Amino acid sequence: MRGVINGLKSTVKATNYTPLAKNAAQFKQIQLPKARQFSVESSTACWNCQKKSELKQNMICSDCGHLQDVNSGINYFKLLSFPIQFSLEPQKLTKSFRQLQTIVHPDKYSNKTSREQTNSADWSSLINRAYKTLSTPMERGQYLLQLKGEPMPQDNSALNKEFLMAMMERNEEVEDAKDTQTLEDLNVQLIKELEDMAQKLNILFESKDLPGVKETLVAMKYLLSIQNSIKQKQQSLLGS
Ligand SMILES: [Zn+2]
Repeated sequence: MRGVINGLKSTVKATNYTPLAKNAAQFKQIQLPKARQFSVESSTACWNCQKKSELKQNMICSDCGHLQDVNSGINYFKLLSFPIQFSLEPQKLTKSFRQLQTIVHPDKYSNKTSREQTNSADWSSLINRAYKTLSTPMERGQYLLQLKGEPMPQDNSALNKEFLMAMMERNEEVEDAKDTQTLEDLNVQLIKELEDMAQKLNILFESKDLPGVKETLVAMKYLLSIQNSIKQKQQSLLGS
């Protein structure tokens, strides 16, 4: 039995290898914030007025109004004015994201110094990255885990055999699907399960159950990789 299960495990690894590896690129290590970024006052002097003034929205010198150099290590939650926790309101996040993007919009800096033009582009891409990370439950969970100093498991040892076998079966269902409706049905089921897992993550973070958090995040990665396979299969069915 053990030999059979190990065999199945390696099959799961083999069949999942390509989509998981593709996903892995998106989930690569996220830069951690440095301690100083939690202070309200800027620790570095403004490049324009040389004063250590408070920063508006973490970006703008409150004294002279010049846009500061990008702080790429800033905590994404702080940047988007959210408490550092898993639970958040998606609409509020989107609103905060749009407000920040308006502030740093390149059009506003077209007549400014080249340093501010560069800074506006840098901040804009950082705000995009922060928003993308926090708006996706899986990525938000992984980011929060890293903030707690806990790395994501690099293998599937956090998952039980039943789950892995079920995932293998689902991969086969995708491979065997002959029409887009079958794939759509499978996708609807995955969306529902991912939503349930996001709710579960919230409870696990609240109760500080980090092993549970890791297990759930790895399981979500599996589901997302199957979703990726579904998209690819749908494209190939539509293309043929
Ligand atoms: Zn200044």
